[in-house]
Amino acid sequence: MKTEAKATKKSSIKTSALLALEGGLPVRTEPLPWDYPGASFIDEEELELVTSVVRAHSPFRFYGPQAQHMVDMLEHEWRETFGHRYALGVSSGTAGLTVSIAALGLGPGDEVMVPGYLCMSGLAAIVRAGAIPRLVDIDDTFCMSPDDLKAKITPRTKAVIYNHMCGAPGHIQKIAELCKKWHLSLIEDCSQAAGASFEGTPVGRFGDIGVFSFQLNKNMTSGEGGMVVCQDHALFRRLLALHDLGYPRTLNGALDASREHEQLWGMGARMAELSGALALAQLRKLPQITSAMRKAKWAIRKGLAKTPGLTFREVPDPAGDSGAFLLLLLENAPRAKYFTDALRAEGVCGPPGSVPCVALSERSLHWYCNIPSLVHKRSNSREGFPWTHPDNAFAYDYSYCKGTLPVCDDYHERTVVLTIAPTLKDQDIKDVTDACQKVARVVQSNCLRQ
Ligand SMILES: *Cc1c(COP(=O)(O)O)cnc(C)c1O
Repeated sequence: MKTEAKATKKSSIKTSALLALEGGLPVRTEPLPWDYPGASFIDEEELELVTSVVRAHSPFRFYGPQAQHMVDMLEHEWRETFGHRYALGVSSGTAGLTVSIAALGLGPGDEVMVPGYLCMSGLAAIVRAGAIPRLVDIDDTFCMSPDDLKAKITPRTKAVIYNHMCGAPGHIQKIAELCKKWHLSLIEDCSQAAGASFEGTPVGRFGDIGVFSFQLNKNMTSGEGGMVVCQDHALFRRLLALHDLGYPRTLNGALDASREHEQLWGMGARMAELSGALALAQLRKLPQITSAMRKAKWAIRKGLAKTPGLTFREVPDPAGDSGAFLLLLLENAPRAKYFTDALRAEGVCGPPGSVPCVALSERSLHWYCNIPSLVHKRSNSREGFPWTHPDNAFAYDYSYCKGTLPVCDDYHERTVVLTIAPTLKDQDIKDVTDACQKVARVVQSNCLRQ
């Protein structure tokens, strides 16, 4: 450890102002640590819980020999931690969104508002239900703009999917107020924001339903898995039925088909006990994971505060940021591309296969206009459902092509994202800050000369 620190120090003395990309010395040569937040915290606690499931021969949550009740415990601790009235473990974030759209009863003739910077999971849930997604622009928080939402609500609008993108809420409170006023259902897609909050209220408590993902990239992980939360009993019963075989279960785990309004078509999205065991251990570590990321991210951001040519994504409540991503805005697309390449050359890169520094234009499937199934209105079935459904005729001229959302189109081109590993050390934080400053200075002076 000691010699490592010494070597880094020595090389930073030798670091010249000449960019590594142009043949100068890089700020660092050690790869940064892996940036899968929860995964880097997997240790004995996960092993112990998973082992108890395996040893009990009991991998199913609703019954079995010596059931270990991992998913039950996960749901219980989740409710206790975040204050959600109901919590339901599911097999993925995508499954959670699918079940949510169905639980709200959405279908042909309905329009669901989505931000232009999103994950296609929400779109898939809407389209497969037969409803129509309507694009809403983002604002400088990189989340849905309340102003654009307000301007686009029509009599067809029934629901909103709000994405807490990149780990932190935008203006969720304003969105929730609008939804209340216009009687729209609100689904919060919290997949990237487990552990985040807005002015003290945890995400998932602003809307009718909140959906979390435990996939590898997320703040906590069980490889596959997710959580759906809500506050309403009847809605929870529908979620329960839909995530399973279409019916809720009795206390001993048998399917209960006795109630007419709970006889539905299930989606096979139950959470397995092994995922539950992993997620339970991870949930207990979530505060540690997010506080480490938040601390590192804001140290870097503060260090870059007055750097010419660099601005930042607006985070309305930094205390509620889960800290997983730092978004930097350059002045235009060529500078963002150059900045990214130069930063990587300075050593802001991880082990082979990881991407701690990326221009958002490279992560293109998160932008509406780069999702081919949306742009071309693709269908899973031959006759083009739901785009061709007569009840959806109102949407015949809806466009999903580039140019529909000006703010998204602008940010997409000139944003660079740094992922923040919770295991960054002080020296890593200093190196990333130094590298960003060094590159930004050169980018700025080059363009001033032009
Ligand atoms: C990861 C993610 C999803 C999908 O979650 P899976 O568990 O991979 O299905 C949905 N929405 C957002 C915003 C995501 O980041």
